[in-house]
This record gives sequence, structure tokens and C-alpha cells, in this order.
Amino acid sequence: MTQEELFKVLVAHCKEYGFIFPSSEIYDGLAAVYDYGQLGVELKNNIKRYWWEAMTRLNENVVGIDSCVFMHPKVWVASGHVAAFNDPLIDNKDSKKRYRADVLIEDYLAKIEEKMNKEVAKGKKRFGEAFDEAQFRATNPNILREKAKYDEVHSRYVAAEESNDLKALKQIIEDCEIVCPISGTKNWTDVRQFNLMFSTAISNTGESDDKIYLRPETAQGIFVDYLNVQKTGRMKIPFGIAQIGKAFRNEIVARQFIFRMREFEQMEMEFFVRPGTEMEWFKKWKETRLKWHVNLGMGAENYRFHDHEKLAHYANAATDIEFNFPFGFKELEGIHSRTDFDLSNHAKLSGRKIQYFDSETGESYTPYCVETSIGLDRMFLAVLSHSYKVEELENGESRVVLSIPAPLAPIKVAVLPLLKKNGLPELAQEVVNELKYDFAYQYDEKDSIGRRYRRQDAIGTPFCVTVDMESLEDHCVTVRDRDTMEQVRVPIAELHAMIDKKVNMSNLLRNL
Ligand code: ATP
Repeated sequence: MTQEELFKVLVAHCKEYGFIFPSSEIYDGLAAVYDYGQLGVELKNNIKRYWWEAMTRLNENVVGIDSCVFMHPKVWVASGHVAAFNDPLIDNKDSKKRYRADVLIEDYLAKIEEKMNKEVAKGKKRFGEAFDEAQFRATNPNILREKAKYDEVHSRYVAAEESNDLKALKQIIEDCEIVCPISGTKNWTDVRQFNLMFSTAISNTGESDDKIYLRPETAQGIFVDYLNVQKTGRMKIPFGIAQIGKAFRNEIVARQFIFRMREFEQMEMEFFVRPGTEMEWFKKWKETRLKWHVNLGMGAENYRFHDHEKLAHYANAATDIEFNFPFGFKELEGIHSRTDFDLSNHAKLSGRKIQYFDSETGESYTPYCVETSIGLDRMFLAVLSHSYKVEELENGESRVVLSIPAPLAPIKVAVLPLLKKNGLPELAQEVVNELKYDFAYQYDEKDSIGRRYRRQDAIGTPFCVTVDMESLEDHCVTVRDRDTMEQVRVPIAELHAMIDKKVNMSNLLRNL
């Protein structure tokens, strides 16, 4: 299966098993908006818990808040979103499809990179052990030609982006002869700026309505509550404020399922520090966040940092943690050193003094800030896409299994009476009563035991517990492990401890 096919299958699997549905599907859906189903919400809540507890419990100096989606319109002026939260748009006149000009150019560059990588792969095959990639890249004429093309387009692209030159972006698209993937033509409109914020109106007096925005990030809620939290929590710098919540962006290129949505959830933490110490903290949070990801056991090789060369005007360092999604390495989380940009601008626009008195140095200053910002939905997609496997079994059959890290699995245990009679359902209910206070469970007595196992594999349940006739005598049950499919006989009295050991979130947190 190619990665692209795998992705399609994954989307279908998410729907079939109640993880994710298109929003308002009975009306044919709404582009780039998705609902989480009965299992999706459990997985999502578990990811949230892993993040929230890692942030607020394992760091004595990080506290959480829950601010509103609606905020004073001036917030978005201070943050720069009204003026600059734009994407460069271009339309194809034949297909009437709209694209992000920067994405068209980035896709073009990615194709050149792909060509070079293919050439390298060919070289590797040809030269075997003796292959020297660096030398090959420096001398192979095909690679050199592609590299020259790449460098030329890339430097023009960076310059156009930096100077916000929309004409230059259009010129690159024309010069590179980029065509619309739908119509296949080069019949483009000019490039225009498009603000990504959704707006609505709040009725204040009945006479006039004030335009307000749906927040495009949760971070600003933290900045505007900074003073309240610092004072009421008697927080001493360095300290952080964490928040999980919805954000809204009118994305043009809304594709790749829940990777890029118009309504999504972010888990953000702003860490306030003494000016001049931000680089130390930036480094510390880079390490801490990578560790949080790798701790899930989804393979350290599937993560990489992508340091930004081009920094936003308010940042003095920025990196992305990229994950190896089925469509390649893409941003999962951003870590930014945002200086005092946000707090200073809110101070200016609100007229409030937003400063911190540092009793250690005897100085007052506007704190600097290091931000960690992860998309909850992207994290969900990372977990699911990594977990989805089709395995060939020894008996010639195959099974679909979601090897979701056990503490995140939506259902932890399935209790399955072998027969629907002879007192087995009653004993199975007793087992359920033992487990239900601590573990999300499913009780299933329909179909053959094999089919029931397959259903649980397909939703990633770490344990299946089968109650059989012998259980009535020996008070033991058969426990099947999702990953190894091994079965062991366990006394009912020991079941809770056995499950807990593997699925307990505290154990996962303890390894951090
Ligand atoms: P991208 O470059 O992919 O558009 P971004 O750099 O605009 O992302 P940030 O503004 O840094 O993203 O947002 C922080 C995180 O929020 C991202 O790392 C991503 O995980 C998540 N995120 C951003 N936009 C979306 C979206 N439209 N849908 C889902 N998650 C998103």
C-alpha cells in the first residue's frame, strides 16, 4: 500500500469505527470541519490529559486557564492578526479553484527535492556499500541541474515572502509554469491577500453591532490574562500558563483530513521568563516537548526539528517539531521564542501596565515569552496514522490493528463472555463491575470470539478478557494482548492490576 492509499484507508477506518465523521454529513458535510465520534472523543480526551498533566502537574510553575473564544476586538489588533494574519491567494480561472500561492510554490520545490532524492536512491542501488551520498550530491549532473533550479526558485520565493511581494509570487508561478492540479491550465488570477480570521458580530445596544473575531489561536487569551494569573496565583518568574481550546481559521487549502481544519483545537503554553534568559528556556522546552512525544513509543525516528530560517517579526527563535505523517514530515508542534512582543503590545493598546517586579534583581520589566503550541487534532492524526497496521497472520488471514499507545487507547478492555448462557454473562458482568470505575470498557457478547477480537483490534483495545465455562470453576479468565495476540490465564482478582500496569497514564507521565 502506498502512503497515499494508506491515508485514504485510514480516513475510511476513522469513519467506520466512530472516530471521526465529516461535520453535518447528512447535508453532504462542510469542508474542512469534522466531528469526533464516540471513540474519537475518548482518544482526544486521553491526549489532552497526557498533555495537561505533563504541563501543569509535572511543572510546579505551570498553571492552566480556560479563556473564551470571543475576545475584545483590540486583542487582534495588538497581536498583529488584523493587519498580518493573511495567506496569499490565487485562483485558477478555468477550474475556479482557489489555492495558496505559497503552497503551490512549496509543492513545486518539494517535487524538485523528490527528484533529487530519487536520483540519490538510484545511486545508492548502483554503488552499494561504496556509496558516498555527499560526493554523489556534489557531482551528479542531474542532481546539480535540479539543485540549481531549486536554489534559484527558493531564493526568489524567500525574498518575495519576506517583502510580502505578491507580484513576485505570481511571477514565480508563471516562470515555473505551475499548473492547476484540477484543470491542468496556467490561467491564473493575480495573487491577493486573504485574512484568515472568521468574524461575527456582537449586539451591544441594538443600534450598532460590533465586529468581533473567533480566535485564530488560544495564545492571546493567555497574554490578556497574564496579569490576573500572575497576581492571583502569586506566580514568580519563570512561570507558565497552559490552555487547551478551540481555534478557528478560514484556511484556503483545507485538505489532508484533520491535519488542516477550519475549526480545530490547540494545546498552548506560554512560559514567561526574565529577558536575556529566553534562549536557555527555548532550548529547554525544545528538549522537554520532544521527550513528551518520544515517550509515547511511536519511534524517535519519526520526529525531527525544523528550525525556522525566516522568523516572524516578533520572534527571535522558532522551530517546529515535525512528525512523519503518511504524506511526509509535517509540522505537528511549534516552539517559538516570542520576546515581549505580545505583552508589550497589549500594554500599549490597553493602556495598562503589564510588568513584573523581580524581587531578585530589584527590577521591573516586561517578561519575555517562550511558547509551545501543538494542534490537538494533528496529534490525534499522528497517533492514528502511526498506529494503523494491516498484519498478515500465520493462518493466512489478515487483521487490522490500531497499536495506539495503551494509556491513550479509547477503550482499555473488552469483556467477552464466550457464550450467551450458562451463567457466563453474569460472571462477565461481575468482571465489568470490578473494572468499570477505572477503565473505559466494552462488553460484547455478539458473534464468534474471533470476530469480537478483530473488532477490538480495529479500535485499538489493549486487552480482551474472555469469560468461559472454566471461569465458573477456577475464577480465572483468558486475557488476550492486542499487540502480541498472546493469551494468558489470569485470576479475576489479579485482572485489575494487570490492566492498570499497562494502561495507567501515571506510568507514562512517570517516564518523562
Ligand atoms: P501551518 O504552517 O501548518 O499552517 P502554523 O505554523 O500556522 O501551521 P501555528 O500558528 O504555529 O501553525 O499553530 C500551532 C499549531 O496549531 C500547529 O503546529 C498545528 O499543530 C496546529 N494548527 C494550526 N493550524 C491548524 C489547522 N488549520 N488545523 C489543525 N491544526 C492546526
